[in-house]
Amino acid sequence: MSSSSAPVLSVVVPVYDEREVLPLFAARTRPVLDGLGVPYEVVAVDDGSTDGTPEVLAGLAAGWPQLRVLRLRRNAGHQAAITAGLDAAAGAYVVTLDADLQDPPELVPELLATAQRAGVDVVYAARDERGTDTWFKRTTARAYYRLMRRIAGVDLPPHAGDYRLMSRAVVGDLRALPERHKVYRLLVPWLGYPSATVHYAREARAAGRTHYPLAKMVRLGLDSVTAFSGSPLRIATWAGGGGSVVAFLLAVWAVVARLAGHVVPGWTSVLVAVLFLGAVQLLCVGLLGEYLGRLFSQSQGRPVYYLQDEAPGRAAARAAEP
Ligand code: UDP
Ligand code: MG
Repeated sequence: MSSSSAPVLSVVVPVYDEREVLPLFAARTRPVLDGLGVPYEVVAVDDGSTDGTPEVLAGLAAGWPQLRVLRLRRNAGHQAAITAGLDAAAGAYVVTLDADLQDPPELVPELLATAQRAGVDVVYAARDERGTDTWFKRTTARAYYRLMRRIAGVDLPPHAGDYRLMSRAVVGDLRALPERHKVYRLLVPWLGYPSATVHYAREARAAGRTHYPLAKMVRLGLDSVTAFSGSPLRIATWAGGGGSVVAFLLAVWAVVARLAGHVVPGWTSVLVAVLFLGAVQLLCVGLLGEYLGRLFSQSQGRPVYYLQDEAPGRAAARAAEP
């Protein structure tokens, strides 16, 4: 690629502590992209790795002119790394791809050809079977997709993760969205561009281990739900209403029993009621907190990521851009 001509394809790769997998990634991805016959670039976003990934990336970039490396100052998370990559990508089409080779790079030509042939703006790469994932991952993933399709009301392609091709128009719309906690697998279908789906079998990680421990999965789930639906807030109303009915019936029963001269009911019922109401209240306060926390973070307007070597103030200016 000559630096003057804009690439046809940008491949955005979030990278977090993937020292072992990167040489394999380059060895498999480069021939595929070189074989496309169009100018391309690979935007590797080093998400604050601490395992020597920067050195490995620098070594690879020395022999691979199309590889650009961005380095975030600290770990900002998978979706934030994708945000940084999309901000930097110059291609007419942009593919987002994991570094761990679970998304086979051999599929990129098909994604591009499908977009050009069918004239669609989005091509999802959907996993056909997830035999290589753990039982826990498969079960939580299935629940996630079912839940999100219901509450987000977006036509979420089943098993489409973050491996997809997007046109410049889609990337422009994504970048223009002011929300900070972007969950791309929901936002892209939500934008409503014409799309197509290409199927593939998800492979096992080529090396290293997952960086999605339970805590990060829960955060992605909460970001997904709260970004697209206020309906959890309504749980408070329903639980409050139901709890009130039960409490009223119990009160009537207690008064009648007392008037009839029976013994005052024991502490069991009192305890159960107190515990139940306490639990419901805590749940509702927690839910309010989830939304409030996101409003707070949104209103702070802090940059989602900082690039290493970025001019002072540039990240803040970027965060303020529409
Ligand atoms: N990743 C990242 N920042 C993070 C966690 C993950 O950039 O905080 C990258 C990681 O290097 C990989 C991709 O995001 O390229 C997906 O992560 P991973 O493979 O660990 O998740 P899984 O496939 O297990 O869901
Ligand atoms: Mg992975």
